[in-house]
Amino acid sequence: MEVVILGSGTFIPIPERSSPSILVRSKETCLLLDIGPGTLRQMGRLGLSFSIIDYICLSHFHPDHTADIIYLLFTLKNTDPLFKKPITLLGPPGTREFLKSLQSAYKGYINLSPKLLKIDELGKKSRRNCKNLIVASYPVRHVSESIGFRIIEKDEGKSIAYSGDTGICEDVIELSRDVDLAILECSFPEEYLKKRGIDTHLSPSDAGKIAQEAKAKSLLLTHLYPECLRIDILERCRRYYKGNIIIAKDLMRLKV
Ligand SMILES: [Zn+2]
Ligand SMILES: [Zn+2]
Repeated sequence: MEVVILGSGTFIPIPERSSPSILVRSKETCLLLDIGPGTLRQMGRLGLSFSIIDYICLSHFHPDHTADIIYLLFTLKNTDPLFKKPITLLGPPGTREFLKSLQSAYKGYINLSPKLLKIDELGKKSRRNCKNLIVASYPVRHVSESIGFRIIEKDEGKSIAYSGDTGICEDVIELSRDVDLAILECSFPEEYLKKRGIDTHLSPSDAGKIAQEAKAKSLLLTHLYPECLRIDILERCRRYYKGNIIIAKDLMRLKV
């Protein structure tokens, strides 16, 4: 599988880090993990067309993780029929309602026929066959609907965990158990989280603890707020995690 970082940032607009989205490409399947604002443009910067997307996995409904769904649906609706290809939206409980509200706000501009857009609402612990990939959801600690995703390639058995936004919890450790690559959010320094009493995001130390406990083979840190970029992320994470640590950058490509 190939992992392409489209957005390693947050909702804060900074030029070098777009909002959250990660593309997972395998032999037969192309899947987006979240679709924050700017996702399609980031794909364009790599010469990748939106028409390669088969599945979109939504971790939760915060706009920084979902806003480009509007743009994608409008593009699919209006594009040349040659580029029209069915897309499946895999999301947490409430996805159908969420999409209906967007479609109602946009007065039909983003309505697609069920042949082009399939909605598959996952439970907090679900499993789906997506061509040569298995996609499994896990509940995580952020907002009520939040889920993380575990992606397994059937042929080679390689696996990726994606936390979405989360605080430290048993489920995110379970989600990351023995994976080849754990993609964990890394929002703020621990002192920032502690001072504000936030337990729904991770620090570099938290991410290190989770990856170590889960025995993940590699760790990719993403969803970096400016506060986190001001500290030595690697040093903090290495105190707890002994494996390979990568700090995500936009347009970075990794083989799993
Ligand atoms: Zn969020
Ligand atoms: Zn977020």
